[in-house]
Amino acid sequence: MHAFQYERPTLINEATKLLAAGGQALAGGQTLLASMKVRLMSPETLVDLNEVKELHGIEHVGDTIVIGAMSKHQSVENNADVKKFIPALSELASGIGDRQIRAIGTIGGSVANNDPAACYPSACLALGATIQTNKRKINAQDYFLGMYATALEPGELITSVSFPIPKRAAYAKFKQPASRFALVGVFVAQTDHGVHVAVTGAGNGVFRHKGLEEALNKSFTAEALEGIQIDKSDLNEDIHASAAYRANLIKVQTQVAVRHAIARAGVLD
Ligand SMILES: Cc1cc2nc3c(=O)[nH]c(=O)nc-3n(C[C@H](O)[C@H](O)[C@H](O)COP(=O)(O)OP(=O)(O)OC[C@H]3O[C@@H](n4cnc5c(N)ncnc54)[C@H](O)[C@@H]3O)c2cc1C
Repeated sequence: MHAFQYERPTLINEATKLLAAGGQALAGGQTLLASMKVRLMSPETLVDLNEVKELHGIEHVGDTIVIGAMSKHQSVENNADVKKFIPALSELASGIGDRQIRAIGTIGGSVANNDPAACYPSACLALGATIQTNKRKINAQDYFLGMYATALEPGELITSVSFPIPKRAAYAKFKQPASRFALVGVFVAQTDHGVHVAVTGAGNGVFRHKGLEEALNKSFTAEALEGIQIDKSDLNEDIHASAAYRANLIKVQTQVAVRHAIARAGVLD
C-alpha cells in the first residue's frame, strides 16, 4: 500500500472540499482498502466519511424511504420503516456477504462502486430510486452505466438514496457460494409505473429485462414466465457458471421473487 493522507471531516462541506481537491471517499473500506492493498488504487488522500452525521440515518418521507449514504447494510436490514414499507430491501440487505461485511459495508459505497454482482443496484433500478449527491438528483435509470461505471463525476459525493415504496416487491439471489455476491440476483417490484425486473450478477452491469416485465405486467404470476426465453448472448460466462446457466437462473429467480412478493403481500395486506 502506498503512503496516503488521512482526513476525517465531520461536515458535508468539509468532505466535499477534500473530494474536490482530489481526495477519495472512504466509507466502510470493504472494496476500497482491498483495492489499495493490491495497488489497484493509490489515492493520495483518503476522506473518511464515518464522522459526517448528515450522511447517516434512515427516514420515511412521504411515499419514500430515504437512506443516508453511510448507512450500514445491517442498519438497512434492521430499520423498522424499511421492514414495514419495503421489506424486500431489508431482506436484500440481510443477505449481503456475512455479518462482518454487513456491519461495515455501506449503501453509498455499494452504489458508488457498482460492482456488477452487487445487490443494491438491482433494488435501485427496480424500485426507481433516486441517487442524491452533493450536486444533484440522479434517477437510477440514468445512474448505472455498466461494470463499475456510474454517472458520478470525479469528486461527487452520494449523500442518500431515496426509494419509492412499491405495492409489492421481492429480491431473489442465487449466491456465488464463496463470495456470497449474486451469481444472479433478481429484484422484482410492482410500482405505480408497472412491474420492473432488475437483474444483477448476470451481465456487464445491472439491467432491466423488458420481456419479463411485459409478461408480469399482463399477469403478476410466476406461471406467466414459463414460456419466456432469456437471451444468453450478452451474459457472463466464467468458472462459476455458463451464460446458459445464468440465463436460466434469471427466469427461475424472477419466478422465486414473484412468488415471494405475492406471498408476503398476502400476509401484510
Ligand atoms: C467478502 C465480501 C462479500 C460481499 N458480499 C456482497 C454481497 O453479497 N452483495 C453485495 O451487494 N455486496 C457485497 N459486498 C460488497 C460490500 O457489501 C460493500 O458494499 C462494498 O464492498 C462497498 O464497500 P464500502 O461501503 O465499505 O465502500 P468503500 O470500499 O469504502 O468504497 C467503495 C467505493 O465507493 C466510493 N464511495 C464510498 N462512499 C461514497 C459516497 N458516499 N459517495 C461517493 N463515492 C463513495 C469510494 O471512494 C470507493 O471508490 C461484499 C464485499 C466483500 C468484501
